[in-house]
Amino acid sequence: MKKIIAVDGPAGAGKSTVSKIVAARLGYTYIDTGAMYRAVALKCNEELGIRNEELTEELIVKVASDIDIRLDEAARVFLDGREVTKEIRTPEVSRGASDVAKVGFVRKKLTELQRAMAAQGSVIMDGRDIGTQVLPNADLKIFLTASVEERARRRFEELKSKGFAADFAQIQKEISLRDKQDSEREIAPLAKAEDAVLLDTTHLTIEQVVEEILRLAQA
Ligand code: C5P
Repeated sequence: MKKIIAVDGPAGAGKSTVSKIVAARLGYTYIDTGAMYRAVALKCNEELGIRNEELTEELIVKVASDIDIRLDEAARVFLDGREVTKEIRTPEVSRGASDVAKVGFVRKKLTELQRAMAAQGSVIMDGRDIGTQVLPNADLKIFLTASVEERARRRFEELKSKGFAADFAQIQKEISLRDKQDSEREIAPLAKAEDAVLLDTTHLTIEQVVEEILRLAQA
């Protein structure tokens, strides 16, 4: 059985949904690294009270140098001891997360934390650079994709079901922008590891993707 599973891919490809289910079925810990970048972005927004566009690298480093981020077994997210699981899911924090994720200091700090968490036992960790940077020796690497239209549709449905106002065209634009920014940044860009298995989920159900990952984990 593969003990360390890395799942990467662009926004809205279904990484967290399927990773959570796979973790529950295998009895593994699920680690959502995107939530950690989101927590840094939330702290920047709250402490500085400025818009994302006004965030400089210097300000981000200052906020990130004194931060405590924890994830519990139920994938709840704690920022400096306060639960922020819901607050980090807004579109504003999504944009901010992609901005703070460009900063080397932030990446180094979170990567170290992520490696320490993975060392605790059997884990499935999702993000953008898990197979390439954080856990290059993972036992199984998955790269999940889906068309941008399908990913925008999923995000639209998700936001609507959580009671957020949602505009499909706007979501599609934001996802494309975030993909571009995440793929083109200099440090640890979103990329498929050479030895990752590519799964295009555009026409697959959640259960089909879960089954395929379980099959690969047991192979
Ligand atoms: O996965 P999620 O959409 O929650 O991630 C939010 C943002 O955090 C991404 O758009 C990306 O910029 C950043 N991220 C990253 N590396 C990771 C996980 C997330 O750069 N391993």
